[in-house]
Amino acid sequence: MIENIQPKILKRAFATIVDYGIFYALIFFLINQFGVISDDGSKSIKGIEALIIPVYWFLYFPVCEYRFSSTLGKLPFGLKVFSEDGKQITFLQALKRRIIDPIDLFTYGIVAFLAVKFSQNHQRLGDMFANTIVIGGEALRCINCNTKLYIEANEIIDNSYTCPECEYNGKVKA
Ligand SMILES: [Zn+2]
Repeated sequence: MIENIQPKILKRAFATIVDYGIFYALIFFLINQFGVISDDGSKSIKGIEALIIPVYWFLYFPVCEYRFSSTLGKLPFGLKVFSEDGKQITFLQALKRRIIDPIDLFTYGIVAFLAVKFSQNHQRLGDMFANTIVIGGEALRCINCNTKLYIEANEIIDNSYTCPECEYNGKVKA
């Protein structure tokens, strides 16, 4: 049996903070390095160079999640994005689950937090839109020896785990 699903919300929140932290840090660096000073004294990137920001976002989020099912923020927590049907996500799904990120960002993650907490499959709005789920990092007790195990996304998808303690091969979901 899977247990302890809820703490995953904190992992996901932290993963998002890491991802957008990296994103904004690099944007800040780029503006500082390549920005031009405006009349009001602030720096900004103008013209064709400004395209670097959406291009960078596009590569960091949709392309990474499509290619690796994960991002730098998710990877340490074993979090992976899958299609609701358990398959790898398509590129369109990767784009769709991220394209409405601004709703989450402008509400300081509150909308995302509530959506993940209360929706049946713990989905953000972007996940609902793209029919994707974030899995991995769930706790499980071995049905044979009762050792607490942390199972990987692929084990959930395959509905099968092998206990490292007693080598019992069991089902993730009853
Ligand atoms: Zn066991």
